[in-house]
Amino acid sequence: MIGVLSLQGDFAAHRRAIESVGKEAVEVRTPSDLEKCERLIMPGGESTTLGILLRLAGLDMAIPERVNAGMPIWGTCMGMILLAKEIEDSEQFRFGLMNITVKRNAFGSQVFSFEQGLEFKGLDGPLHAVFIRAPVVTAVGTEVQVLAKVDDKVVAVRQDRMLGTAFHTELTDDPRVHDFFIRM
Ligand code: GLN
Repeated sequence: MIGVLSLQGDFAAHRRAIESVGKEAVEVRTPSDLEKCERLIMPGGESTTLGILLRLAGLDMAIPERVNAGMPIWGTCMGMILLAKEIEDSEQFRFGLMNITVKRNAFGSQVFSFEQGLEFKGLDGPLHAVFIRAPVVTAVGTEVQVLAKVDDKVVAVRQDRMLGTAFHTELTDDPRVHDFFIRM
């Protein structure tokens, strides 16, 4: 079963995307929900809020324990912020599991949200990506592979069994990134 962290944010859209590729999804709100999952997706939402909710749920410790034991994890937008080791100009909660630095709301207030076709390494043909107050990755460690960029900005990264995307494909009807993650 594929878990979707369901404390806040667009978890329902991920659930639908998982079901569209023929897999079973489970909404994760407690450490015992997490035990049922072989993989976990962290959706978009508000990363400062999630930091508080994760602690209350006891998932602030349980999630990194599972990832360190080998569970694949994918963070979209807010989820990628939570995976990062460094968040520019912020002391907020993060798991710090991926060797990346992120900048929140990095596309500025003028282009707050936008949609764009982009190339994603390992997928054939352009991917339609939805950016909603999206972060960018401003630095990566040597163990991190860059999978997609918008202009010169890094918007998708992979480190071993961890995937981070600044954008949302769960809000489109293209399931290829979900499929990519499930095969990771
Ligand atoms: N701007 C949000 C944050 O900083 C992330 C937005 C999203 O997940 N779509 O937490």
